[in-house]
Amino acid sequence: MRHENKHSSATGERVLATLNPDGSRHWIRPRLSIGRYWHARRIVAYGLIVLFAALPFVQINGKPAMLLDVVHRRFHLFGATFLPTDTALMAVLMLVIFLGIFLITALLGRVWCGWACPQTVYMEFLYRPIERLIDGAPGSRRSISPSSAGRGLLKFVVFFICSCFLAHTFLAYFVGVDQLRVWITRSPFEHPASFLIMAGTTALMLFDFGYFREQTCLVACPYGRFQSALTDRNTMIISYDSARGEPRGKLTRSAAGDVSLPIAAEAGVQRGDCIDCRMCVTTCPTGIDIRDGLQMECIGCAQCIDACDVVMDRIKRPRGLIRYSSAAVLSGERAHILRPRIMLYPMLLAGFIGLFVYLLVTGQSAEAAILPRQGAPFYALPSGAIANQVRLRIVNRSEAEGRYTVSLADDSVRRGARLAFDANSVPVAPAESVSVGFVIEAPPESFSSRGALEVVLVVSDGRGFSKSLPYRMLGPVGRVDRSEHDDDHHSHDGDGD
Ligand code: SF4
Ligand code: SF4
Repeated sequence: MRHENKHSSATGERVLATLNPDGSRHWIRPRLSIGRYWHARRIVAYGLIVLFAALPFVQINGKPAMLLDVVHRRFHLFGATFLPTDTALMAVLMLVIFLGIFLITALLGRVWCGWACPQTVYMEFLYRPIERLIDGAPGSRRSISPSSAGRGLLKFVVFFICSCFLAHTFLAYFVGVDQLRVWITRSPFEHPASFLIMAGTTALMLFDFGYFREQTCLVACPYGRFQSALTDRNTMIISYDSARGEPRGKLTRSAAGDVSLPIAAEAGVQRGDCIDCRMCVTTCPTGIDIRDGLQMECIGCAQCIDACDVVMDRIKRPRGLIRYSSAAVLSGERAHILRPRIMLYPMLLAGFIGLFVYLLVTGQSAEAAILPRQGAPFYALPSGAIANQVRLRIVNRSEAEGRYTVSLADDSVRRGARLAFDANSVPVAPAESVSVGFVIEAPPESFSSRGALEVVLVVSDGRGFSKSLPYRMLGPVGRVDRSEHDDDHHSHDGDGD
C-alpha cells in the first residue's frame, strides 16, 4: 500500500526527498536515533577514522601502507609496489575489488554506504555531531531559535578545521607524508601550486560536508544506481515489514491510558503495528520513508531501525518492524542464501585472488622495452659502418638498486653488429625507471637487400634477470645481403647436387 508522500511535484509525481515540490533544496536535519546499530556503527566509524588517518603514516617493508603516487606513477599498497607496467596485476586487482563489491552488495545491499564509506563516516560521526552540539538537536528549543551569527561563525570555523584535517589526510594518500610535511612547514610562497591544491581540497571538503552532504550519495555517487542490478529478492536489506505494519494508523490509547492494548482497534478495523509516528522518516539522513520500499536513496545506515525499535519498545510490540531482511522473506518465501550469483562471485573471486598472488610471486624483478625510434632511422659512420640510435626503457621493480647491462646476442655479434655505449652499466633505483640511449652499428654488407638487419639485445642485471629484445636495424636499401648471398650460393650448390 503506497501512501501520500509530501515529496511530490505539482503533477503528483514523486520527487527526491531532498527537493521541495518547487524544485528548491529541502534541507535535511535528521533526528539522531540511538540504538544498537548506532552504537555498533559508532565503534566502526571511530575505528575507520583512525585507520583512514593512519594509513599513509604506517610503514610496511619501509614503504607507506598506502601511497597512490600519481605524479611518479607508483602505487604502494600494503607493502607491495605497483608500477604502470604492472597492467595485468592492476587489472586483476581491480577485478578482485569489483567482484568483492558485487558479492557484498548481493549479500547485504548497501552495507558499505551505511557503515564504512568515508562520506557517511565523517558526515554522521564528525560533522553532524558537531552541528548538533552547536545548533542543538533537531526539534530542540535551541535548534528552532533563530540562528545567531556567532553560532554560524563558530560552526564554520570548526567545520573549516575539520576540513583542513581531512584535506591533509586525503592528500597524504597521493603525495606521501614527507612531502606533506614540507608543504605544511614551508611558506606557501615557496610552493604556491601545492598550496592551491591544499586550499582547493579543503574548500571541497567544506563544501561537501557543510553544504552538499547527502546530495553526494544521491547525485554524485554512482554506486546507489547500480544497486538494483546488484541485489535480488534474497539480498538482506533494511526493510519495512508491511504485512505486520499495515494498515498503519495513529495510536489510540485505551481508557486506562495503556498504549499497548489494543493497537488502534477502531470501528472494527484491526490496524498494523505502524503507528505512523514518522520517527523512521525524521531520522533518515536522506529524508526518505522506508515504508515506501527499497529506494535508490537508502544508504543502509539503519537509523530507521533504531528509531522504530524505540517506538516498538514504547508501545510494547516486538522490535523489528523495520529490520535487516529480504524481499523474499517478507513475502513469506523461504530464505535462499545460496543463489547462483552468491556461488559464482566467490568462485570468481578465489580464481582472481589466486591469479593475483601468482602474478605477484612470479613477477620479474625488472622490465625492459625498446622505445619507438626518433629522428633519422640510420646514418653512416666515417668507418663506413651503418649506425642506428636505440632507446631502451628499464624498470627496476625490485626493492634494491639494480645495475643493468645491455649486450648483443652471440648470433647478432657474428653478423657483425656491435654496441657503442658511453657506459654500459645502467643504475636504476628501486621502483624507478630510466630511459637509456645507445648506438648499434654494423657493416653495410650485413644488411639485407631490403635494408634490414635483425639483431637481439639482451638486458640483464647479473642477479637472475635477463630479457632478450629483438630489434630490426635499418640500413640502406638495395645492398646484397651476405647471408642471402651465402644462402643463394648454398641453394645453388644444393641444386647442383
Ligand atoms: S518508526 Fe516505526 S512505527 Fe513509526 S512510522 Fe516508522 S515504521 Fe511506523
Ligand atoms: S531508510 Fe533507513 S537505512 Fe535507509 S537511509 Fe534512511 S534511515 Fe538509513
